[in-house]
Amino acid sequence: MTSNAELHDAAQQLMPGGVNSPVRAFGSVGGTPVQMVSGRGPYLTDAEGNQYVDLVGSWGPALLGHRHPAVIDAVHSAVDAGLGFGTSHPSEARLAELVRGRVPGAEMIRMVSTGTEATMTAVRLARGATGKNIVVKFAGCYHGHSDGLLAAAGSGVATLGLPGSAGVTQAQASETIVIEYNDRAALEQVFAEHGENIAAVITEATPANMGVVPPEEGFNALIREITTRHGALMIFDEVMTGFRITDAGYWGASGREEGWEPDLFTFGKVIGGGMPTAALAGRREVMEHLAPTGPVYHAGTLSGNPVAMAAGVATLENATAEVYSHIDEKAQVVADALASALNEAGVDHTIQKVGSLFSVAFGTGPQGTGTGVHNYAQAGAQETFRFGPFFHSMLEQGVYLPPSVFEAWFLSGAHDDDAVGTILDALPAAARAAAQAQSA
Ligand SMILES: *Cc1c(COP(=O)(O)O)cnc(C)c1O
Repeated sequence: MTSNAELHDAAQQLMPGGVNSPVRAFGSVGGTPVQMVSGRGPYLTDAEGNQYVDLVGSWGPALLGHRHPAVIDAVHSAVDAGLGFGTSHPSEARLAELVRGRVPGAEMIRMVSTGTEATMTAVRLARGATGKNIVVKFAGCYHGHSDGLLAAAGSGVATLGLPGSAGVTQAQASETIVIEYNDRAALEQVFAEHGENIAAVITEATPANMGVVPPEEGFNALIREITTRHGALMIFDEVMTGFRITDAGYWGASGREEGWEPDLFTFGKVIGGGMPTAALAGRREVMEHLAPTGPVYHAGTLSGNPVAMAAGVATLENATAEVYSHIDEKAQVVADALASALNEAGVDHTIQKVGSLFSVAFGTGPQGTGTGVHNYAQAGAQETFRFGPFFHSMLEQGVYLPPSVFEAWFLSGAHDDDAVGTILDALPAAARAAAQAQSA
């Protein structure tokens, strides 16, 4: 049998870092990345035959767990009909209908292949529809890797400690203004200074790429109010949260209750059920600026691919109220056990949690007394060195966590009592490893 280490060594000769997406390289936790070869329900199996309880969920898409029978059947049927036609086909509108049924503000939808493409296109559309140039984003929010959105981004940019990215020109970066998340005064200020030139504010519905950072009460509503007042658009990035935090994403837990809607949504991850699909959606009047009805160009050879649509349709059809309440309940159990294990081991921390999405921040004050992380500056100031030993202890005990302290933990509808039990059993030793960790 070829070991994980041998496979990774071979991959490093062929691909930068041996990976196709940087966080997979274990850069911030050290050690050898694990090569997975199959998944079932809440489990992944690596090339050496080791089984893990998976808390990455393919970085979000696996809402129903791996190899959900309805999703696999739907994909098999779609494959049997052909891998793609380069034409319209009925399941595109079926998926669009399911999305609009959950999120009425998604009046019109354009399918794309990745979350990056969704946000990139949403920004172009906002500029095209408003005739303005500047986009405001929040430090630590990750919106994929298009040039203008990489300034002070979260996810791998945070994990690798990069200020942004080489290869992004000053001109591109200068049309993105970055302010701290949850900073109302900064938001007012940026509109006071540049209001006439701001095309859009883009925000993660609730940030989860600098660790989970809840929006303070009313923050999203304030973004909505200020953008409306200045004729700018609000782009609500639900690539991670969409169809995960509630049936209607984080909007379902915020705008739906508070009575507001963004102009544009971006979706990804869950919407494709594990296949490469994402979408932008929003008000008809804005969306109709897209080609062919309008002058803002977007196209895609694989946009709306029938196999991907089949996976998305089957995933949303099976993401029932019971699935959401199951995930919420299991997430609470794991988050509570994580807090107790860390308290028991004497590790200062906060559990950063919004709905079923959560992450841990180390060194932020004893549980219940610290105020936690509210923005990117605070996320970066935590004791990140405690995460590597914690992560590896969990891994050795058969639990596969996201290999970065800045990523959320993902549960699924398939995480049953056995799988959760494995996680709970592993936490005390991992918490002790975090307690013993030394800063470099
Ligand atoms: C994952 C993510 C993206 C990028 O999606 P990709 O499919 O990886 O390009 C954009 N925004 C948010 C909030 C994400 O979590």
